[in-house]
Formats: sequence, structure tokens, C-alpha cells
Amino acid sequence: NPFAGATFVLSCAKLAQLPADGLPEIAFAGRSNAGKSSAMNVLCGQKQLARVSKTPGRTQLINMFDVPGGRFADLPGYGFAKVPKDISRAWGQLIGDYLQGRANLRGIVQIMDIRHPLTDFDVQMLEWSAHRGLRCLVLLTKADKLRFGAAKNTLLKVQRALGELPDVQVQLFSSTSRLGLDDARQTLHDWLVA
Ligand code: GDP
Repeated sequence: NPFAGATFVLSCAKLAQLPADGLPEIAFAGRSNAGKSSAMNVLCGQKQLARVSKTPGRTQLINMFDVPGGRFADLPGYGFAKVPKDISRAWGQLIGDYLQGRANLRGIVQIMDIRHPLTDFDVQMLEWSAHRGLRCLVLLTKADKLRFGAAKNTLLKVQRALGELPDVQVQLFSSTSRLGLDDARQTLHDWLVA
């Protein structure tokens, strides 16, 4: 596992608080409850790494983790209808600024629940990333919830829908069954060392 030994570094509410050492960084984005924390935990081989991102007061922050060779940035989850307008505006501002301004960002991991892929916000994130020329890995997670044939069909559908965007890879994933884990680790490792 190239990401063994990952550790929490800090939580940031503003770009100015992010580490300024220029280490290569990979950001994780996704709708709340899509399975982002579980995916980060299993990628790093730890049960509770991303639990910090769920502690009250930290859910709207960018939570940074050291991994061998770089950093993972856990972006605040989006799509909770209950979030008040001013918070959702603050979210858009923080994420937009981060995606635009973070020079050492190597790529985005977009987490989607395979049963609800391509929400409006998912597509927005992918378009922002493409606009900046960032690589993107889409993990269709919770693939264990579908029969393999149905999961494959969704994979093809999402690949087709995103076919126009450059530098987007889509794969099946499951934090429970570990489907796709080796492939995802390999891709992210390549991004950090490239
Ligand atoms: P987050 O809000 O995006 O960080 O989502 P979590 O990682 O906390 O996951 C939300 C819920 O989905 C939890 O109940 C997890 O146990 C469950 N979950 C996450 N990933 C998987 C998966 O790959 N398979 C299954 N069956 N459940 C999952």
C-alpha cells in the first residue's frame, strides 16, 4: 500500500491556512454520504483516518492528510439540502478558490455513489477541474451494492457521459469488498510521483 502511514495534518477554512510547502496534493470531493471517508480510509489502509473530517465543526473545512510522497485534501461534502444558503455559498467559494488557486494540486478524486452518479454538483466539480486542466479519477463506489452486470452498465454509462472531458478516468470501487482498490492506489501513486 503506497499510502500506508497516512496522518491527519490540519483543517483549513481559508486558502491562506493551507500548507505552503508545495508538496504534491490530491483532492477528494463528493456528495455527503457518497462514501468519501470510507474510500479515503481504505485507500490508506486505516479504519478511522478520515473520521476527523466528520467531527462537528470540521465538516465544512478542507482537512489535510500527509501521505507518503504528498498530501490528500478532503474537501467538504456537498449536496445536503438542509445546509443554509450562506454556508453553501461559503462552500462554493472555498472549493472554487481551492481548485483555481492551489498550484500543487495534481488531480481530483471524485467519489460518487454508484446508485446516484453524476449529480449536478458532481458535474460542476468535473467541469471546474477540466477547466483548470486537472486530472480526475471518478470512483463509482458502493459497487458491492449492485450486481456486477448492473455495475458495469453504470460504468459504461458514466464513461460515455464524461467522454468529452479530457483526463477523466472512471472505475468501479467498493470500500467494503475492496473492488478496484489496487487500480485506484496505482493511479493516485502515479499522480504523486509523476
Ligand atoms: P461520506 O459522507 O462521503 O464520507 O460517506 P461515508 O464514507 O461516511 O459513507 C456513508 C455510508 O455509506 C456509511 O454508512 C458507510 O458505511 C457506507 N459505505 C461507504 N462506502 C461503502 C461501500 O463501498 N459499500 C457499502 N456497502 N457501503 C459503503
